[in-house]
Amino acid sequence: MFADLKAVATDPILGLMAAYKEDPNPNKVDLGVGVYKDEQGHTAVLNCVKQAEALRLKQEDSKTYIGMAGDINFNLHMEKLAFGSSHKALLADRLTTAHTPGGTGALRVAAEFIKRANPDATVWVTTPTWANHISLFQAAGLKVKEYAYYDYETRGLNEEAMFADLAKIPAGDVVLVHACCHNPSGMDLTFAQWQRFTELAQERGFTPLVDMAYQGFGAGLDEDAAGLRHLADAVSELILCSSCSKNFGLYRDRIGAVTIMSQNSAQAQNVKTNLLSVVRSIYSMPPAHGAIVVSHILDSTELTALWYQELAEMRNRINSYRQLIIDKLAAQGVEQDFSFITRQHGMFSFLGLTKAQIAQLKTDYSVYMVDSSRVSIAGLNHSNIDYFAAAVASVLK
Ligand code: PLP
Repeated sequence: MFADLKAVATDPILGLMAAYKEDPNPNKVDLGVGVYKDEQGHTAVLNCVKQAEALRLKQEDSKTYIGMAGDINFNLHMEKLAFGSSHKALLADRLTTAHTPGGTGALRVAAEFIKRANPDATVWVTTPTWANHISLFQAAGLKVKEYAYYDYETRGLNEEAMFADLAKIPAGDVVLVHACCHNPSGMDLTFAQWQRFTELAQERGFTPLVDMAYQGFGAGLDEDAAGLRHLADAVSELILCSSCSKNFGLYRDRIGAVTIMSQNSAQAQNVKTNLLSVVRSIYSMPPAHGAIVVSHILDSTELTALWYQELAEMRNRINSYRQLIIDKLAAQGVEQDFSFITRQHGMFSFLGLTKAQIAQLKTDYSVYMVDSSRVSIAGLNHSNIDYFAAAVASVLK
């Protein structure tokens, strides 16, 4: 039965990670994988997480099943973080949340939920988008199409083409929009563009699916959710997929949430039965650890304050490197305009290098980035930034 299986190409990022690991060059630089690293190049466990884990060990008295929606307390915290604690949809019982295995789990549950609500729905994603979006929705049997988003020429948002595409999307389809820190381009919608997006969602009747994998990594927790909140004020239904992988540094613990905003509380009850039955048929119940850790943090004023501080440190470190990259490239005599790097947000920057330049960076300098020239900025630190800038300057010559 397995003999006819054809091998499937692995995700290029995994190949890149393996090549980096095997590279003996002591100066090698990994800018591939989207994981935060500190000045020492280490992905440390946050102190607030360590303390919450200690609390968990002390307080946990059972490992009985947790239920299909997961940790209810965590779910409420996630709704408040995303929508704000007094959002009208929250107060009117219009939100249904299930805690999921990571943001990816949230997206997959959302995909299966969409398939139930409208099996003919097309999911529209940005050009470009996180590659897993496409395979994930297709794997659930949904059609996936792209709408214009990033302009490789101007290195900014392809605004008019984007709104022209959105204006053609029919009711019943789903439009995936990145809440903040767009992966891979780092180009986010301005508030005015969120307003225009919202007007179109209302006019056309498509359902927005907001993917929020980086809340707090752009400008701040509330700032990064401003577009989502504006949208949620105006439309009657939407889907939100969030992740605690980056902002709580809980990558391997697999913790995220899917929230469905319904028109009214009666419909939310109906939605809940469907959402939970989707969960039941995939993994029955989510793993509890990450949700309990996040709950302990957000239940405690002290741990929440510590989390804000640690999140701000990560955000500020990444943001400070945006200008530093520009300055260091200029110091190496690079004349091209890289000012667009400071207009991008979050973990990534699109440098706009050619495939040949990217290959040369890897073979000649052991500087690793994905083929689109998306770099994970947290891979840079004071020990490697000069080496990186010199390498980029030499391939640009
Ligand atoms: N959505 C986007 C845009 C992402 O970049 C990621 C992770 O890189 C995810 C969702 C899923 O995150 P995770 O499943 O690790 O929580």
